[in-house]
Amino acid sequence: MARVHNFNAGPAALPVAVLEEVQEELVDYAGNGLSVLEMSHRSPSFMAIYEQAEATLREVLGIPEDYDVLFLSGGATLEFAALAMNLMRTGRAGYVVSGHFSKVAMDEGARYGEALCLATGEDENFTRIPQKAEIEGAIAREVAAGGLDYVHICQNNTIYGTMYQALPETGDVPLVADVSSCFLSLPLDVARYGVIYAGAQKNAGPAGVTVVICRHDLIAHGPALGICPAYLDWRTQAMKQSMLNTPNTFGIYVCGKVFEWVRKMGGLEVMEARNRKKASMLYDVLDQSALFHGVANPADRSIANVTFSTNIPELDREFVSEAARAGLVGLGGHRLVGGMRASIYNAVPKASVERLCGLMKEFEELHAGTSATE
Ligand SMILES: *Cc1c(COP(=O)(O)O)cnc(C)c1O
Repeated sequence: MARVHNFNAGPAALPVAVLEEVQEELVDYAGNGLSVLEMSHRSPSFMAIYEQAEATLREVLGIPEDYDVLFLSGGATLEFAALAMNLMRTGRAGYVVSGHFSKVAMDEGARYGEALCLATGEDENFTRIPQKAEIEGAIAREVAAGGLDYVHICQNNTIYGTMYQALPETGDVPLVADVSSCFLSLPLDVARYGVIYAGAQKNAGPAGVTVVICRHDLIAHGPALGICPAYLDWRTQAMKQSMLNTPNTFGIYVCGKVFEWVRKMGGLEVMEARNRKKASMLYDVLDQSALFHGVANPADRSIANVTFSTNIPELDREFVSEAARAGLVGLGGHRLVGGMRASIYNAVPKASVERLCGLMKEFEELHAGTSATE
């Protein structure tokens, strides 16, 4: 078996143990004589898979009972719209713009009501998360000026490699977070949020499943906007166990296996410690390097996506292709940032990060004399 070192940002690495279990069960799932791909979503076998996936996620993340858990389709992108249609009761919501996806979320919200920008890091090319005090000041101002239905943040900025180290205090206003790229990378205090959502393909499973966790009282009265498509009505989906229509059965099954893998590995504290170790190995190399430098402001660094560059585009390209030749794939930075990005989600082993650190040092020696600051 020749597996590469996979640093893809999403779809991304899955635990090998999960892939092997899926392979083993593929043709004949648990003696059912058919595969999960072929069974009815309403069959007892699939309902058991669904309920087990939800129960394991509830246990791993410590989701309080008054929160609903949904497994929907359409990615985080469709939830940008669902959020506004479900929760914009007065038609005013606040958005912190800390990168590409949070901007897209705000623009999507603006189709349905007033989407107010509370703070943005755009003038610094999103290398920083806006200051907590600035965000909280803007929330207080907007609450006084007319109220806010929710405050939306993107907790880990996949493209820029930044992450909130502390959540803004939002008072009585529900905090809504896109946690796509840090979901299951570290513990989350679910009770601090009104809604959490995540596309699974970064850290929790295959593409095509989006996990939405919402406090029940926020959705109990149905969507704020009558135009909300039935599919995006979180209350209906909660009542129907995400089965208003045919869900992504196979994707939910694989997510359930990943949740179980996280549980068996020791849970989210263990995941966080492993991820912090991997991240600090890379950041240490970057901080000591004369050639490579980290892109994100050190205080805002992500533990899931490490962005770096030599500041010399040809050299960056050479590094990415040399790494690929050595079996390290997915290291090209997003086209909005350039340079390199190493996504080091839960399923990326420390050995892969060690290999990357080694390769960076070798590359630097080879190009000694070339300075990143020139
Ligand atoms: C990948 C990503 C998205 C987009 O997710 P889709 O599932 O492709 O819609 C949104 N937000 C964040 C933080 C992401 O990392």
